[in-house]
Amino acid sequence: GSAKIIEEFEKEIAATGLTEEVKVVKTGCFGLCALGPVVIVYPEGSFYSRVKPEDVKEIVDEHLLKGRIVKRLLYTETVVEDKIKSLDETDFYKKQKRVALRNCGVIDPEDINEYIAYDGYMALGKVLTEMTPEDVIETLKVSGLRGRGGAGFPTWLKWNFAKAQPPGQKYVCCNADEGDPGAFMDRSVLEGDPHSVLEAMAIAGYTIGASQGYIYVRAEYPIAVKRLEIALNQAREMGFLGKNIFETGFDFDIDIRLGAGAFVCGEETALMTSIEGHRGEPRPRPPFPAVKGLFGKPSILNNVETWANIPQIILNGPEWFASMGTEKSKGTKVFALGGKIHNTGLVEVPMGTTLREIVEEIGGGCPNGKKFKAAQTGGPSGGCIPASLIDTEIDYDNLLAIGSMMGSGGLIVMDEDNCMVDIAKFFLEFTVDESCGKCTPCRIGTKRLYEMLDRITRGEGKMEDLDKMEELCYYIKENALCGLGQTAPNPVLSTLKYFRDEYEAHVKEKR
Ligand code: SF4
Repeated sequence: GSAKIIEEFEKEIAATGLTEEVKVVKTGCFGLCALGPVVIVYPEGSFYSRVKPEDVKEIVDEHLLKGRIVKRLLYTETVVEDKIKSLDETDFYKKQKRVALRNCGVIDPEDINEYIAYDGYMALGKVLTEMTPEDVIETLKVSGLRGRGGAGFPTWLKWNFAKAQPPGQKYVCCNADEGDPGAFMDRSVLEGDPHSVLEAMAIAGYTIGASQGYIYVRAEYPIAVKRLEIALNQAREMGFLGKNIFETGFDFDIDIRLGAGAFVCGEETALMTSIEGHRGEPRPRPPFPAVKGLFGKPSILNNVETWANIPQIILNGPEWFASMGTEKSKGTKVFALGGKIHNTGLVEVPMGTTLREIVEEIGGGCPNGKKFKAAQTGGPSGGCIPASLIDTEIDYDNLLAIGSMMGSGGLIVMDEDNCMVDIAKFFLEFTVDESCGKCTPCRIGTKRLYEMLDRITRGEGKMEDLDKMEELCYYIKENALCGLGQTAPNPVLSTLKYFRDEYEAHVKEKR
């Protein structure tokens, strides 16, 4: 409903003659999706939530003309007795640290000047004029940045492999093919702050010796695609992309490629195959993309959130970034909080924040007084974390240790009413559907696994099926060609581990 609200504001502001003094800025998402549409009036920073088109006249007449805040529309958490708190003091925002999302909801993503006003392209300037490629690699190494797309591979190491290849054509790729059910982190960054990704890709181009980048983005994200196109054109006009950037002799440009909705194209070799114009199927590794990637040339691929962190690391220094997070997982992580939770939305917290803090404090717990039962992290590749592990500090290694994974950052909350066997079946159905069919363990194995789960949920399962399912899960994990198949059994394995009683109850029901 935001478009109508913007239209109303523009109409009312024109009618009251405030066009010179008041500017309506369309931003990206501010994170608190449960309370949208959101309108923030500056300089006060009044945070109006669940605004409807019919509320606009009152905001203009009262707030803009008379300077009186419309209390009935304020986000209730910001009002304490008669005082108005800042957003940073509210439960939703006070434990958050916005690094990748720093500009989302703040700047107009279609105006490069707003990005520049928030230090945009300063990091690229610094890299090109003050740093060698080795300095950039060292900075990333000290920062401890790991890939935010799933596996958590150290970013500096990936770049270093590509940099070490002989000079010649190399490529820098951005994975914006966010396909996990319930995940919208990358979409929000692209819609709210596209220049941060372009700037970081140019930094990578300079570091590894590449002159061409590609952004592979889902066609289902039309606003993100439109804003990326606008950003690319503006960056070229301003000289931040193209030939001889900052008159340093460095050339770098970026093209967009649209993904057609295949989940497997989020896997790096499948994504590159798809950019090349072929059917998006993974390729065996080695050779790794840093050696032989896109069009057979050394290539690096990072996801949107990883890119969005990089200009800040360059500007604020690697020690600043490394001061956040845990020993082996530095910085922050963005999560798309969804499912049975009050405050659905996008949150960014330092690594090491506990699941309890995210679910109960930031998320506000489960609605209708229901008990928290589990959270699924990592989308269909992840696992279900039970309530007994709610005090787990979220980082790459802790999640792996309890049978889940960070994935790209989907976090779906389940309450006491959810059947965990159904949840496992839902995610598995998704991966069966999305399997590209290239290798047998995934193509046939996930299908057989799904059929067993289906029999169990229909009350036709047998107790020995549970052990068979477990065995099949490990077989698929060990033998599938790519990450999709290797992680597809995770929801089944984690629910079998933590909620076996629910599987047994389904089997017993039959008798
Ligand atoms: Fe395709 Fe699945 Fe094999 Fe990956 S694991 S190559 S998605 S069939």
